[in-house]
Amino acid sequence: MKKRMLFFLLTALFIVAIGPVSLADEGMYPISELHKLNLKAKGLEMDLKDLYNPNGVSLMDGICKVGGATGSFVSADGLILTNHHVAYGGVSRASSEEHDYLQNGFLAKDRSGEIQARGYTVRITESYKDVSKQVLKAVKKEMSAAERTKAIEQKIKEIEADAEKKYEGKSAQVSEMFRGKTYVLFIYTTLRDIRLVYVPPRAIGNFGGEEDNWMWPRHTGDFSYLRAYVAPDGSSAGYSEDNVPYHPKSHLKVAPDGVNEGDFVFILGYPGRTYRHQTSHYLEYEETYRMPFVADYYEWQITALEDLGKDDRGIALKLASRIKGLSNTMKNYRGKLQGMRRMHLVEKKRDEERKLQQYIDADNKRREKYGSLLAELNNLYTKSMADFESDMVLSYLPRSSSLLSTASTLYTASLELKKDDMERQSGFMERNWNRTKQGMLRGTGEFYEPSDRLIFEDILLRAARLPADQRLEAVTEIVGDGDPAEAVHLFVDHVYSSSKLADRDALEAALEDPAAWVESSDDPFLKLARELYPVFEARREENRERSGEMDKLYAELLDVKREFMATDFIPDANSTLRFTFGRIKGYSPRDAVYCDPLTTVNGVLEKTTGEEPFDTPQKLQDLIRKKDFGRFAHPELKTVPTAILYDMDTTGGNSGSPVLNARGELVGINFDRAWEATINDYAWSPDYSRSIAVDIRYVLWVTQKFAGAGYLLTEMGVEE
Ligand code: ASP
Repeated sequence: MKKRMLFFLLTALFIVAIGPVSLADEGMYPISELHKLNLKAKGLEMDLKDLYNPNGVSLMDGICKVGGATGSFVSADGLILTNHHVAYGGVSRASSEEHDYLQNGFLAKDRSGEIQARGYTVRITESYKDVSKQVLKAVKKEMSAAERTKAIEQKIKEIEADAEKKYEGKSAQVSEMFRGKTYVLFIYTTLRDIRLVYVPPRAIGNFGGEEDNWMWPRHTGDFSYLRAYVAPDGSSAGYSEDNVPYHPKSHLKVAPDGVNEGDFVFILGYPGRTYRHQTSHYLEYEETYRMPFVADYYEWQITALEDLGKDDRGIALKLASRIKGLSNTMKNYRGKLQGMRRMHLVEKKRDEERKLQQYIDADNKRREKYGSLLAELNNLYTKSMADFESDMVLSYLPRSSSLLSTASTLYTASLELKKDDMERQSGFMERNWNRTKQGMLRGTGEFYEPSDRLIFEDILLRAARLPADQRLEAVTEIVGDGDPAEAVHLFVDHVYSSSKLADRDALEAALEDPAAWVESSDDPFLKLARELYPVFEARREENRERSGEMDKLYAELLDVKREFMATDFIPDANSTLRFTFGRIKGYSPRDAVYCDPLTTVNGVLEKTTGEEPFDTPQKLQDLIRKKDFGRFAHPELKTVPTAILYDMDTTGGNSGSPVLNARGELVGINFDRAWEATINDYAWSPDYSRSIAVDIRYVLWVTQKFAGAGYLLTEMGVEE
């Protein structure tokens, strides 16, 4: 009896500590889970089958993945709404000193004026199927952890290749849902001709810049319009003048009247990664080691790259996208670190694990099966913490220089292309090789030697300064007995001055036949790539071993957690289509501070200083002052709302996701989280987890009044 009481008490405590998914609004639900949510009772005012219908057309067909983020179709002619920061790479690639679209914005007067967003693809989820059994069948009891990982990788490649044969013209991808446990095959339509339609100027699209990033209240017009094109026969094709606008199966209806505080809202999108099922050991590794290292490292890179471009707009444009990405991650990590400390996350997790361990130990059978689980995970992470510094340096080294990574890919290709298709690493399989080559060729357009060598020289020097027993032989050879800084500098001088890999034609020729190129080339980056290859192969194998062990342990951990909490979980985000719901809601980030959930254009004026990043265009200021709001003024506020705040569960990758009202109409475009919600990746909090969208009224008002592109409103079916 006593034992039972203890069990119930512990269970109750555990549930209070973590909160089972069904009680809170936490959750990035896979589409397969929607029917369990009783959404009508929560506030949804549409039939579930209109939201998602595997046997017909539904709202979900209007959602797309734009690169690593999200967007939605808003017209029958393939018009896409997403964020300014999602389109940023395409805009900076299309920009030059004469046509500075990043600074001034871009507007196509008609379809013929829409220009290519180079490097962009758009994906639409067509269907999904659980293939866990098929994948796990490949695993045999006697396999080592590394063999297990390899067998799973192999099986996944087979499933994907088979599916692509079966669904011609589609792309297939198997995604791991629960670590080491469940796998889902997704079939996607991939569109490859994406164009810019309207992009507001920087001073609107990135208003507030890095100062306001990850902050509330917000006044950024973080939106852009793109359009997807296909071949005249409707099939997916690369850019061509003959291509025609894509007709999505369904597109979203835009709600020009927006939303209000308290309204039910939901998001469909492609959240990137969360780590909520990871243990305290992982969190400790993140908090104490990885994140502080990366935040400092990126901060150094940002300063160095900004310095390179400070007197030359052409160079600044080349580096803009990279700097933006680095700054975004750096500030996000700083926010997370603060949040982790403030919420005592590691301690909380440890506490949960102690209770779980007590539950495991309370029963002999359970102890036998799961008794050492947490200790084994702890051991694996402790090893990572011990090797942390060399681990970080070595993981950044191969990608620090684009020339080194080009040489490494060519060298790997020379070996992989000789193998049977199914035996190759995924990027070298027939179905992917062309894409790999295109990506490399595109990279030559973005190459800028001074920045490339600066980053390379720094990491090489860090590698040279590692303790002798952790240093790579190739690096020791470069340094010799001399001063590391001097030796590295001379070496970098030599490799950059004699390599041809930055030259597009030379690279194109090498890609024709990588084996022949490797045979005949004396490129210095090839020499280095060749020397590093066995080291990085060995690391890959070690990682396989480690991740195989972890997969197994995490799969068991999930089993026992499920048993203990008598509840089900949802998988961590993994860049697959997810649903989350909540309400338009303010919050109290600090003692005595309360933030409203709606901002307005009045705040744009308040923040405007005339200096970047608060340099609102004069025309926009005039429109606000004249109160020329058209139909987009909020009836009570008498002004145009700019951004909305809500308690939905989002993370990176949800950028550009449509925020939809109870009837499934578009009321905003998600673009950020509040500072305290950077912690979402590890834990969700009803008090702090707030995400941010640009209000649809601001999007439409800027499009109509500022850009003079009323024809886009007409295309979306919005009456002016
Ligand atoms: N602004 C964010 C991003 O960089 C969106 C988010 O993470 O909430 O993806």
